[in-house]
Amino acid sequence: MLERADVSAATWAIVGGRPPAEPGAPLNVPLVAASTFIQGAERIYSRNEATPGWEALEALVGGLEGGEAVAFASGMAACAAVLQQLPSGARLVLGDDCYQGVAGIAEAGARDHGWAVERLPVADPAWPDRAQTADLLWVESPSNPLLDVADVAAICAAPRRPGTRVVVDNTFATPLGQQPLTLGADLVVHSATKFIGGHSDLLLGLAVTADEEQLRLLRTARGLNGATPGTLECFLALRGARTLPLRLRQATATAQLLAGRLAAHAAVTRVRYPGFGAIVSFELADAPAADALCAATRIVRHATSLGGVETTMERRAAHPGQEHIPAGLIRMSVGCEDAEDLWADLAAALG
Ligand code: PLP
Repeated sequence: MLERADVSAATWAIVGGRPPAEPGAPLNVPLVAASTFIQGAERIYSRNEATPGWEALEALVGGLEGGEAVAFASGMAACAAVLQQLPSGARLVLGDDCYQGVAGIAEAGARDHGWAVERLPVADPAWPDRAQTADLLWVESPSNPLLDVADVAAICAAPRRPGTRVVVDNTFATPLGQQPLTLGADLVVHSATKFIGGHSDLLLGLAVTADEEQLRLLRTARGLNGATPGTLECFLALRGARTLPLRLRQATATAQLLAGRLAAHAAVTRVRYPGFGAIVSFELADAPAADALCAATRIVRHATSLGGVETTMERRAAHPGQEHIPAGLIRMSVGCEDAEDLWADLAAALG
């Protein structure tokens, strides 16, 4: 049986979580549609005990991140399972440009449980110091949608008060871009709906940790909240994750090219691209100009979310609660289409 340490990340994406190579056994993990199992073994009921599909996905992603993964019904379910551990009066530090669903949990925690929530720009050098005062640092990097980058290594390595936890939302960077657990983070969360699934056809989340007690708490929260991932979703996400390295390589190369060309275009006032990854945010003069672009492209689809093989884009300030974002900012998730086709599509729509 191959172990994670035996192979590179690209190979682990292909071999991780495979069934044992026995004569006549399926090469891939079969789709097992079962809510219940004949008693007498560890597997009893599918809300609590691992099904073959989610075990395999957890093995694959846990291996890439350097910990043990727990799969959830959505990225939000994974984030909630981590945040709901915070006691009343907890001190939480959160990026000022983080995923709005997570900001919503923080707002509810402040209202209902007296959490003291501090919002800091992700690139603010004060983050490492907060490890001495806060109970939880929630680091999302690159940020969404301004694509600012945190010094994840410095934050994870900063001396911490006992009990302070550092959580990194690694959805945008993916485990191929950074492995926060190896840098000293306590937990990593993913919306596997995005790059890990990679085909815009499912909702799924993961939390990853190397800490046994955290692992127990996460599994318990999943069962008690009923935030269990669906069998089909796990099957599809596992299939998608097999090609994550290939997809990301292609999408990143195209994103780099498009970021450069957009920056040189007269209609584009600003490009935000951290230099890696497949998300490019760029600004047009105003909201009508951005809306017109989203409506005019023929290959790039006007849709929310990100991380699929399909290139999508949307004007983020159109969403409620996103008033801090420039009105003409478009977040584009670059997919795997031919780069020149994409540029031709964007250039024609930009005029
Ligand atoms: N974290 C980030 C960075 C996200 O972008 C999202 C969704 O857009 C989530 C978490 C929530 O994930 P999901 O939509 O799978 O619940």
